[in-house]
Amino acid sequence: MSDKDKDFRAEAAAWLQANCPASMRRPITADEIVWGGSRLHFTSDDQRLWFERCRDRGWFAPGWPREYGGGGLNPKQARIVEEEMARLGCRQPQYNLGVWMLGPVLLEVGSEEQKREHLPPMMRGEQRWCQGFSEPNAGSDLASLKTSARRVSDAEGEAYIVNGSKIWTSYGDQADWMYALVRTDAGARKQQGISFVLIDMHAPGVSVKPIELISGKSSFCEVFFDNVRVPLRQLVGAEGEGWAVAKKLLQHERAAMSKFAEGGAPSHDALAVARPYLEQAGPAQAAVWRDRLAGVLMDAHAFALTHQRVTAQAMARQDVSGPASIMKLVQTEQEVAKYELLVQVMGLNGLSWDGEDFSQLEHDICRQWLLAKTYTIGGGTSEVQLNIIAKRVLGLPG
Ligand SMILES: Cc1cc2nc3c(=O)[nH]c(=O)nc-3n(C[C@H](O)[C@H](O)[C@H](O)COP(=O)(O)OP(=O)(O)OC[C@H]3O[C@@H](n4cnc5c(N)ncnc54)[C@H](O)[C@@H]3O)c2cc1C
Repeated sequence: MSDKDKDFRAEAAAWLQANCPASMRRPITADEIVWGGSRLHFTSDDQRLWFERCRDRGWFAPGWPREYGGGGLNPKQARIVEEEMARLGCRQPQYNLGVWMLGPVLLEVGSEEQKREHLPPMMRGEQRWCQGFSEPNAGSDLASLKTSARRVSDAEGEAYIVNGSKIWTSYGDQADWMYALVRTDAGARKQQGISFVLIDMHAPGVSVKPIELISGKSSFCEVFFDNVRVPLRQLVGAEGEGWAVAKKLLQHERAAMSKFAEGGAPSHDALAVARPYLEQAGPAQAAVWRDRLAGVLMDAHAFALTHQRVTAQAMARQDVSGPASIMKLVQTEQEVAKYELLVQVMGLNGLSWDGEDFSQLEHDICRQWLLAKTYTIGGGTSEVQLNIIAKRVLGLPG
């Protein structure tokens, strides 16, 4: 590392030390997340202070140009800021799919008008975004999506009239805007008739219905479009080329997911949770559990080492697209395996949902067991992930 980079690192660390309140350096819980958007609110003065300081310095996105509200740093410096934030345990000051996923795409392919309209409000924490891709019959097979966008030109100008619905839209009921895939040409081959548009969630004709989940918590919504007018200026990229724009956006999904993961409940230490139950179990049963527990712990350790290696490769600008899809599959399946085992070891206690007869830890294990299953679905199911690995990494025929 050059002397200049070392100086910058020291400067960034000093600023973070001086400006990130101590309470913003503890692991964040789901209830403490600051979501940007028109419903922005803070539960403590420290949250507000940390949010405002990062906003004013442009450190919601240190590498974005200053004119759009970013920090104006070069890529190396931006990475140093992120590394120092992680090293010092600083929380993400704002959670927002706009900043993490859409923003980088607008910087790459958005029009100047789109950048000026959307990037600064995201960076002031005034716009919250959701992702409108999945539809009732278009999940893994996303290119089957049917939500239609008919182009019109009238007294109000050029626009699309959007009709249809989206499903599993995370936080759709909280969002101000949605980036969505819509069908602009029903006659074209599947992927070619799709366009990428930005939809104002407060526009007439948009309605949102939350979906309840078995885990008791749900961020999922259905979103319905009934003749929603989307001005032509909200088309990102060319008409019919939305698939390529979406692929660019999904490249940022993994980074966004790992930032989200920081805001979830931390994964449990399997050994600590299982130990009291193992001590009570008979010797034959305990031997079986110990054997399976050792497997879970060794897998987790192997994964952590692989993660370190892939991170180093990514920082050295090597292509890690293959390992990235393998890691999503392995990590999420390992979490499922761990919680399946813990629930089995804990017996009925592992199935306790609420009530005073069981501990908070037991309730948490049950909830995490159910939640872990969703990670194997969101962002591409495990089966789809296996297909991708077979084709793109192993080069097997389709
Ligand atoms: C936590 C979470 C958050 C999400 N957030 C959003 C969001 O914000 N916005 C959004 O648009 N969507 C979101 N989704 C939806 C998600 O993208 C879809 O659930 C996912 O793509 C799978 O689609 P599906 O549910 O329609 O299942 P399907 O595609 O119907 O799959 C059903 C089953 O068939 C299997 N299958 C399907 N195709 C194949 C194949 N070719 N080969 C082998 N097996 C196959 C699948 O693996 C699965 O087991 C979210 C999902 C989750 C769980």
